[in-house]
Amino acid sequence: MNTDLHAEVIAIGDELTSGQRLDTNSQWISERLGEMGVRTLFHTTVADDLPSNIRAFQVAADRVDLVVCTGGLGPTADDLTRQAIAEAFDRPLQRDADALAHIQNLFARRSRPMPESNHVQADFPAGSRVIPNPHGSAPGIDLSLDRPQRTPHRIFALPGVPAEMREMWFATVGPAISFLASGSPRVIRHQRLKCFGVGESDLEKMLPDLIRRGRTPTVGITVSQATITLRVTALAADASACQELMAPTLDTIRQCLGDLVFGEEDDELQHAVARKLRERGETLAVFDWGAGGLVAHWLSEAASDEFLGGAVLRSDRAFLQRIDQGAEVLASHGAHSRQAAEAMARQVQEDFGADWGLAIGPFPVDQQDQGDVHFALAGPSGMATTASPYTGHPDILLAKAAKQALNLVRKKLGGSEG
Ligand code: AMP
Ligand code: MG
Repeated sequence: MNTDLHAEVIAIGDELTSGQRLDTNSQWISERLGEMGVRTLFHTTVADDLPSNIRAFQVAADRVDLVVCTGGLGPTADDLTRQAIAEAFDRPLQRDADALAHIQNLFARRSRPMPESNHVQADFPAGSRVIPNPHGSAPGIDLSLDRPQRTPHRIFALPGVPAEMREMWFATVGPAISFLASGSPRVIRHQRLKCFGVGESDLEKMLPDLIRRGRTPTVGITVSQATITLRVTALAADASACQELMAPTLDTIRQCLGDLVFGEEDDELQHAVARKLRERGETLAVFDWGAGGLVAHWLSEAASDEFLGGAVLRSDRAFLQRIDQGAEVLASHGAHSRQAAEAMARQVQEDFGADWGLAIGPFPVDQQDQGDVHFALAGPSGMATTASPYTGHPDILLAKAAKQALNLVRKKLGGSEG
């Protein structure tokens, strides 16, 4: 990270602080800043309230070098950004003739009279520069403030409308910040490895002290619905230097984790499975009790001819109707058993004429089931099974079962990514 230049993103609007709208601008801007090697230290979200806005700008001017704010530049009474900046730093508003002409022209082109209220959009704090807004009536503000014994504080104020904000970022603000940060021109690059099959802390233990603050390149770990993402980040002069910096770390991770790594970037398990099936020219079908059809849903997106189809069986009755010898299996072992999963796997393989028949058993209903979900995969050379305890937050149980089933297939098809 460029430690010289610290940023704060300020998002302004009642719709944000009341929870009616999610502040996506701050996320977007921080990502762009990060790509330029500028570290964002604070996100501030503030309501359409003048004293609070003034305070937010003053606090930011004290604690960071650079502010990018969005919102509050419209023509209405609740748009206070201009006024807040003017009052916060004692820079009275002055009307800018060119900006006014642009707004007048915009209304003329739309054959609409310009309301009186829009005139204020041509008002700028003294000493600031206008950031053109080619497709909207709210120009942005670019203001530099001297600070005793410190580098100047710089404020970029942009409209809240995401499309206008982004356009102005690319045309004006981004290049200006890049110039500010260019004491040592650097770019930031990320690479993600996707893993499945162990818990987060177990996975971390397998890595030799990689997830440590201050390491270069940095390695971050996040978990989403049992899929673990390792994100390697490097900062260097250009993209290929970043790549070079990351390569040894990526190699180390792959060596340590082996076939726990199933893919890269946006890969999910279904992509890894679809890829393997395609390579081998083989097909898969699924009987699914415990994952509510998720495997079929995901494979429908990721695969084409390799996924033949399947069914969701959600009851003993459906099981009895669809599985030959279903009655026998239920009588001897019950539905919550390895044998039931195997019967489902064999049956779906046969019914669909697939190379591989995958089955996900039901979630256990009580203690007797010993808390396991059973998975079975009938393949060209026999049956593979696995079982996994029924644990985790209710929101992710279906997804976790679906992923465990896909992971069983992935491993049988030949390990890690390819
Ligand atoms: P404003 O520039 O404050 O008039 O905002 C115009 C519109 O842009 C709002 O009504 C929101 O729909 C949207 N908007 C404002 N701020 C944000 C933000 N931080 N993230 C996403 N959308 C926003
Ligand atoms: Mg607003």
